[in-house]
Amino acid sequence: MSIYANVQKGPAIEVFALTQAFKDDTHPNKVNLSVGAYRTDAGEPWVLPVVRRTEISIASDEKGNHEYLPVTGLDTFTNAATQLVLGSDSPAIKANRAFGVQTISGTGALRIAADFLHTQLNRNVVYYSNPTWENHHKIFADSGFTSLHSYRYWDQSNRQLDFKNMVADLEQAPPGAVIILHACAHNPTGSDPTHEQWKELAELFERKKLFPLFDSAYQGFASGDPDNDAWAVRYFVQKGFELFVCQSFAKNFGLYCERAGNLTVVQADASTKAAVHSQLTLLIRGQYSNPPAYGARIVSKVLNTPELRKEWMDSIQTMSSRIRQMRAALREKLVALGTPGTWDHIVGQIGMFSYTGLNESQVKVLINDYHIYLLKTGRINMCGLNTGNIDYVAKAIHAAVT
Ligand code: PMP
Repeated sequence: MSIYANVQKGPAIEVFALTQAFKDDTHPNKVNLSVGAYRTDAGEPWVLPVVRRTEISIASDEKGNHEYLPVTGLDTFTNAATQLVLGSDSPAIKANRAFGVQTISGTGALRIAADFLHTQLNRNVVYYSNPTWENHHKIFADSGFTSLHSYRYWDQSNRQLDFKNMVADLEQAPPGAVIILHACAHNPTGSDPTHEQWKELAELFERKKLFPLFDSAYQGFASGDPDNDAWAVRYFVQKGFELFVCQSFAKNFGLYCERAGNLTVVQADASTKAAVHSQLTLLIRGQYSNPPAYGARIVSKVLNTPELRKEWMDSIQTMSSRIRQMRAALREKLVALGTPGTWDHIVGQIGMFSYTGLNESQVKVLINDYHIYLLKTGRINMCGLNTGNIDYVAKAIHAAVT
């Protein structure tokens, strides 16, 4: 008998299973609203023009090579990434009490963060929002956290942030608990706390001694302005918190498969930097030794070259404004069709996703009868909509709801 005979088949990962089902579907009107990746109005993936030019220039550099990067990655990348999220005039950077280490995109940043918190700071309690990106639970459980909790975040009946209950649940968290916060454009709800609510949360975190771990997968992509999207992180830093930020460059650079990420560490002062940096180095060494260079080189060159950076900023404006147009169009079409319910939340939410409020049986109708693929929670990727398919999708939602 095979040594593998008793291995049990695990559950499918919903978002990848849906994308496969979409690929296998031969219906001419099929639409993929599941995976979180940008699409143009023609329904195609978009390589940002500045990314394309930069990769060509890197590849044609005669002096380029494929030597290993240091264990914690490319310094020019980690410094630029840290500056992007904390701000170029950040007091924490000036005081040398913030630094970054390169990671395998946002997921890798979360995993290294979780491993460090568990093994070096003996943290075992983590809270993530309900709902959240489904991988948060898995990453922290795989790192050895055994006390995993969710805090309430979403008010389904009013289709908005449930701030009161979010606060009530976080009040119950024990001192030292790690709290995952979405820096902006909450996945899947598209609903973030207001500035006033972030201030209230900072006061609660300070009083209860909670550890803020910001997951920043959509900086710039959400509002079109990276500074605006980093407001909450910078506010917590200004308030003197020690914290982590897990950054992904998948969405805002369109570098999904290149796995360019950064874990930013903010400390009270510079004295702990050498030790913390060395332990992060050892964690990475034991997992994959050193990170891939391709995406990090592109991000580094773009962020560190003013003309390229400006062009990148224009591209994130292009992406975020196309999403806003699709939000307005979908709402308008549902209202025009007289689809029961209110649809204002579609334009009120920000970022890549809309949490439509469609229930599981309505989602089934969309998938089975209309070949429109979306998560069973009713989350849709707004980028999957375009001027060519929005009428079809709006009519299908109308039929599923009525
Ligand atoms: N956090 C959140 C909230 C996300 O939505 C994503 C991407 N779906 C990630 C982290 C990490 O993505 P990646 O590893 O591709 O950077």
